[in-house]
Amino acid sequence: MLIDTHCHLDPEYFPEGADEMLGRARSAGVTGFVCIGVGSLAQTESALAIAQRRADVWATVGVHPHDAASFDPSLEAELLRCAAAPRVVAIGEIGLDFHYDHSPREQQAAVFRRFIALGRELKKPLVIHTRNAPSETLAILAEERASEVGGIIHCFSENKAFAAQALDLGFDLSFSGIVTFKRATDIQEVAAWAPADRILVETDSPYLAPVPLRGKRCEPAYVRHTAEFVAKLRGIALEELAQLTSQNAARRLGVAAVLN
Ligand SMILES: [Zn+2]
Ligand SMILES: [Zn+2]
Repeated sequence: MLIDTHCHLDPEYFPEGADEMLGRARSAGVTGFVCIGVGSLAQTESALAIAQRRADVWATVGVHPHDAASFDPSLEAELLRCAAAPRVVAIGEIGLDFHYDHSPREQQAAVFRRFIALGRELKKPLVIHTRNAPSETLAILAEERASEVGGIIHCFSENKAFAAQALDLGFDLSFSGIVTFKRATDIQEVAAWAPADRILVETDSPYLAPVPLRGKRCEPAYVRHTAEFVAKLRGIALEELAQLTSQNAARRLGVAAVLN
């Protein structure tokens, strides 16, 4: 049994609806899904709706750094309301993306800080997106006392030095399909080395399908390929990797795989 700790299931990406796709995932042994609600209020509400409708889906609420420029007080009020819902197990994804720079960096940082505060207020863990901003991300996490609630570095794509600091700050490392890519040797090193009780797996669907499905639209069933790859790196069986990552997800997010 596996848990996909980070997937986007919006109709925008899956116009046919999520149920059949989640059925395929369940057939592949993936029995829990954390649906990330970012992009717009509509996407947040759609994540919340599926989490309320299905026992095997949970939601998160946040503002992606890409969208920081369009964050305003009226959206804030709506998101605060959504974030308090019991099916919302984490705040995120939030963070910094200095690769695409879709929003001005100061705005990314301000929104990031605001939502760390919200996570602390609601006592919910944080889901962190970070790209090309390793030291800035770690500095903000430390300054804002994110370790009070901890959380997850999602789609881990940094090196061992970053991983060590993130672990010290109370953040677990979640590996996506990127870890299976040939040139991802730094990430593979971390996936082999990280403590067994601090690792998770995810798809980040609809993006980043793992090898051998690279380039296809990614869906939660594919997390199995990532898990198989990480198990091999660590020299353990897929079943063991599945068990430990599911336990870690249960501990970190309060989600447990739903059996039927
Ligand atoms: Zn992300
Ligand atoms: Zn994401």
